[in-house]
Amino acid sequence: MKPHLRPEEKRRPSILGRAAYLFVICGIGWGSYQALYHPNTPVPGGWNPVVPLTVGDAVTPLTGWKLERAVASAQSCIAALDTAASYTAMPDLKTSEQCHIRGRLDLRRVAGASLAPVETRCAIALRTAMWVEHDLKPAARDAFSADLTAIDHIGSYNCRQMRTSGGASNRWSTHATADAIDIAGFRLSDGTRIRLIDDWEDGGPKGRFLKAARDSACGWFRVTLSPDYNSLHADHFHLQSKGWGLCR
Ligand SMILES: [Zn+2]
Repeated sequence: MKPHLRPEEKRRPSILGRAAYLFVICGIGWGSYQALYHPNTPVPGGWNPVVPLTVGDAVTPLTGWKLERAVASAQSCIAALDTAASYTAMPDLKTSEQCHIRGRLDLRRVAGASLAPVETRCAIALRTAMWVEHDLKPAARDAFSADLTAIDHIGSYNCRQMRTSGGASNRWSTHATADAIDIAGFRLSDGTRIRLIDDWEDGGPKGRFLKAARDSACGWFRVTLSPDYNSLHADHFHLQSKGWGLCR
């Protein structure tokens, strides 16, 4: 006759079974560590959470998180920007308590598109580079079979208070710290010029390009305002690296 076993005694694994289990867990942990941290890791950069952001990496569900992590410090932002921009680092500007540019850059080019020299901060430059690389360049090729060559802007730093459709505001604009940039249009390699003031209402490819540009900017900037927001933005996109997810 078999001895009677209580249920918990039947389920308890042997010493050998527990050792094998521990061995498998350690193996998976070690393998994952090697796969992510090894200099020749097979995990592509876009999918690897421990590899810093590179502008040219494929966009994955990790990209937004990696971008926010990159812009969180001056050092990591510059490291990411250096993968796809031309600029000159400048000394900080401090005009007043409200008006300054910390980590000032003289930006000339992002992801292959030139800009008239603009003094701004790394976060704006890096977000613009991601937008150009992953949305504007493919959109220009799809719609016009041409390359995006230049971005027309109307400035980043401006020591002023906010403008609202109701008039002046006593709050300082994000332009006062160069945490925003105003974009007026785009130029393509076939000579095409696309301008918000002329083409926002266009029913053809220029209008569709601008709507797609606005929608995609919302994925890279914290605040995106277009002509749909109010008449103060009839001729430009206001793109901001700080704030609360306004996209209109
Ligand atoms: Zn603006």
